Amino acid sequence: MLNSVWKAKAPQKAIMTAWRVLKNRIPTCDNLRKRQVPLCEEDTKCKECGMQEESAYHVFLACPKMEEAWNDLQKWLGTATVRPNSIESHFGTFAAFGKEKKVKNLLLAIWVCCIWLLWKKRNEKRFEYKEWDPKKLVMEVKIRMWSWNRIFGIVEDVSNLDSWCADKFVPRMM
Ligand SMILES: [Zn+2]
Repeated sequence: MLNSVWKAKAPQKAIMTAWRVLKNRIPTCDNLRKRQVPLCEEDTKCKECGMQEESAYHVFLACPKMEEAWNDLQKWLGTATVRPNSIESHFGTFAAFGKEKKVKNLLLAIWVCCIWLLWKKRNEKRFEYKEWDPKKLVMEVKIRMWSWNRIFGIVEDVSNLDSWCADKFVPRMM
């Protein structure tokens, strides 16, 4: 099932990041620690909340800031999922929402886009001390998806960027 990520209509580099996240092969602090990379206690904490050790699950789903980002994203999409207990199950439920192929394709690409951008934000924060904001992230996902849609032709019947960005996107597609 995870292999379906390779079918995403998205740039290869974004799919590659999403794949590594799904396989837990990204250099989060817990993974570095498992590989015996020396880290001081302070460095192993999530840089957003400072509360927990940084794991992929925390970075992409459980950190309060990510929860806000996913909630906002689902407001745009007009879909709802219960909080999953793993990244794999999040991927499964998120991308499996639609019955129609175009909706499935769209959600799959959005998932990839969001994960890819989140990992970029995480790195910018950790290494360049750049702050980011969940609301702006969701706006960035919308804009990216608008341009990916033009490149990859995921859905055709969208008239303009304003209607693309308006809430309840998926129900409007069905
Ligand atoms: Zn956190």
